[in-house]
Amino acid sequence: MTENTKGNILLVEDEENLHETLKLNLEMEGYGVTSAFDGNAALKAVANEYFDLLVLDVMLPEVDGITVVETIRVNNNDVPVLMLSAKSTSADKIIGLRKGADDYLTKPFNLEELLLRVDKLISKNKKIQVRESVGETYSFGSNTIDFKAQNATTWKGDKVDLSKKEAMLLKLLIENRAEVVTREKILQMVWGYNVYPTTRTIDNFILNFRKYFEEDSRNPKHFHSVRGVGYKYTE
Ligand code: CA
Repeated sequence: MTENTKGNILLVEDEENLHETLKLNLEMEGYGVTSAFDGNAALKAVANEYFDLLVLDVMLPEVDGITVVETIRVNNNDVPVLMLSAKSTSADKIIGLRKGADDYLTKPFNLEELLLRVDKLISKNKKIQVRESVGETYSFGSNTIDFKAQNATTWKGDKVDLSKKEAMLLKLLIENRAEVVTREKILQMVWGYNVYPTTRTIDNFILNFRKYFEEDSRNPKHFHSVRGVGYKYTE
């Protein structure tokens, strides 16, 4: 449950010496590192926690790295993945990248190069997440939200106080209007640590938003749940 400003990395590597070396070096660079030594453990960790990056070996016991990245992408998780492989043929590299890896390093690699690529992948991902920002207030329908004061005036004319997390989630959804914001992204941006609250936690926030801002909360016009993926705001 550590909060880590530089980012949390899931390190999936079964060779213990290399695993320890990578872990130590990544931690020295200021990253939080969670260890997995086989593909099943990696999938389990990804399902339960938020990571800024996966460093993923291809040859792993139980479930191989290619299957891990494929499974992650099928589940709509777009966490950056840096694959490591002992194989140096370009065919393997192409398969890894086609299945959804973002970058690829062939063993033996230079440690400095790995650290540079890790840094690049994490900052690129963080940049994408910063969208065009809304101002201090935002109006839609007959609702107005004041993000700074953390309150809203609803279409009924009611004044509603918003919790800090409510205001943050509204801002995130509105800044990404008409796009699905994944659960992972919401948890990272709003909760800001790498352990998931339950799906119900976000659902309850969305239910509140509907209660405040929708004229017919059963047929929402603005706040939509996209089953198994995330949530979307539309104007
Ligand atoms: Ca291996």
